[in-house]
Amino acid sequence: MELVCPAGNFPALKAAVDNGADAVYLGLNNKTNARFFPGLNFKATRLETVVDYAKSRGVKVFLAINTYPEEAMFRHWCEAVDCGAELGVDALIIADLGVLDYATEHYPQINRHLSVQGSATNKPALDFYHSNFGIKRAVLPRVLSLKQVQRLADKSSVPLEVFGFGSLCIMAEGRCYLSSYLTGDSPNNSGVCSPAHAVQWKNKGDQLETRLNGILIDVYEPDEPAAYPTLCKGRFHINGNLIHALEEPTSLNALNLIPELSAAGIAAIKIEGRQRSPAYVAAVTQVWREALDDFEKTTELWQPQQRWMQLLSDLSEGSQTTLGAYHRSWQ
Ligand code: SF4
Repeated sequence: MELVCPAGNFPALKAAVDNGADAVYLGLNNKTNARFFPGLNFKATRLETVVDYAKSRGVKVFLAINTYPEEAMFRHWCEAVDCGAELGVDALIIADLGVLDYATEHYPQINRHLSVQGSATNKPALDFYHSNFGIKRAVLPRVLSLKQVQRLADKSSVPLEVFGFGSLCIMAEGRCYLSSYLTGDSPNNSGVCSPAHAVQWKNKGDQLETRLNGILIDVYEPDEPAAYPTLCKGRFHINGNLIHALEEPTSLNALNLIPELSAAGIAAIKIEGRQRSPAYVAAVTQVWREALDDFEKTTELWQPQQRWMQLLSDLSEGSQTTLGAYHRSWQ
């Protein structure tokens, strides 16, 4: 399986390339990509050097153009497609039907991957994208159980990519309104969930409060690790109990599912984290590279090493990991 790693900036891209990524994915520094955080991403004019660095080392480059344009802004998404085509990236990761159509019509030779933001979770949806836009791969949303992934992979007309490690987004991706409800900035149109300008951290006595646009998301005791304030991962009073009502601030870690995902015919594993540091990208890429190479050699005898799991756990949100939707037996 191909290892696809995040590159939020040039040092992170180098970290991914130098530590064993098969492919890196990145975006332009505008609303066309779903990680439009300040200080991240690439100017179109600087992208050539970046793409050269990866490609000269045999690593593929995927350009994420995976938000949904409003009509008045559509040309910016087309310009992003033009930019990827001029640079000769290996694939464009797209969510919006109009942008897919533009890419298919103008650059039929460039691979098109359906973004996780496209939220395709069934065979007819995948067939639709395949027959209309010739997609070469689809990234599945992080809402499917392992059984559902296996069933879909069995029937799918296109190779599939799944998330292996990183932050969880629990809604059908591309369809969450929680962040825009609180902040006015939409993950789907503007590319950012919980934008930095709306985030507040405040000490209150011994405790630390986190807020999003003034709304209390969580309160941490002095010895508790504090998570980035995201509405779906806040703690709220429900029926007298203080709980993570929707999701805990933990990281997905599907490393021990490598044999099952490989047997299902999954084409690629994606590491989330274009907002993460180069050191994080280097460490996560290294562990997954080692694990995938070890699996290639040992197959049936393969076991996840304790050292890998510990390293990934140390790099996780709140130092906790989960199998997320993969292990939901009721789905
Ligand atoms: S609020 Fe949560 S579920 Fe919604 S886009 Fe952000 S991370 Fe995903």
